[in-house]
Amino acid sequence: MVGLNRLPSHIDLRKIMVLHKILSLPAELVSRNIFIRKLVLYINDMTHVTSGFIPDICHILLKYNLHSIINNFLAPECYVPSKYVWKSVVKRSIISRETQLWDYRTSVDTDFVFFRILHPCITTCIIYKVCNRTSLRNTMFVISRLWSRPVTHENRTCINCGKIYQEELVHVICECPSTSELRSQCLDTISDILLPEHKQSLLLQDSVSQTLKLLGAPIKPILDCETEVTFLRTAFPFIVQCLRQYVM
Ligand SMILES: [Zn+2]
Repeated sequence: MVGLNRLPSHIDLRKIMVLHKILSLPAELVSRNIFIRKLVLYINDMTHVTSGFIPDICHILLKYNLHSIINNFLAPECYVPSKYVWKSVVKRSIISRETQLWDYRTSVDTDFVFFRILHPCITTCIIYKVCNRTSLRNTMFVISRLWSRPVTHENRTCINCGKIYQEELVHVICECPSTSELRSQCLDTISDILLPEHKQSLLLQDSVSQTLKLLGAPIKPILDCETEVTFLRTAFPFIVQCLRQYVM
């Protein structure tokens, strides 16, 4: 939710930075040369070095497609980039792999159908920005759970109004007469926050898009950061009130 990569990737980054420190040591230093000798032994025959830092770091470099680092170092011209360049190259590779894993994980699980629209990349989650350090902390947990709920596409009948709907959350928030009073109250408040054209744009959207926008999806109308946060600080409590009023 705070937009960080997984913890193992941070540990891997630290280990790769330790490797940079070792390779940057003065060429005459015995400990550096022992390390290089063991590294070459491992590359030539993995059975010579079976545990410790060298197999671990080689596995990590392979994982992030960074084995060229070692190849460049062992080449006749022996190239070790500066710490800044090294770190930025490594970070880019880690972010690329983490993003691939994120995409895969959220595309294979149907629980993430909503989530992929609402939170399309690894960044600080809008719910966290809106609710953190405010009185909306409990609201944050409710909205977070709504983001990762499975989406249904079967026709169901509303137990409150008798109408047929496909997605219960969309019906509760934007369609059901049992929450219409809350909806008009929310619209009144939103009128003070949004520009008339943005409010008009929101009202012209279908129920699904309106629901996603109220949950924090980065879709039209696109608002500036401050207005978006103020808008969602109105929308989130409205959603929670709708859920309370509607027996799901
Ligand atoms: Zn209904």
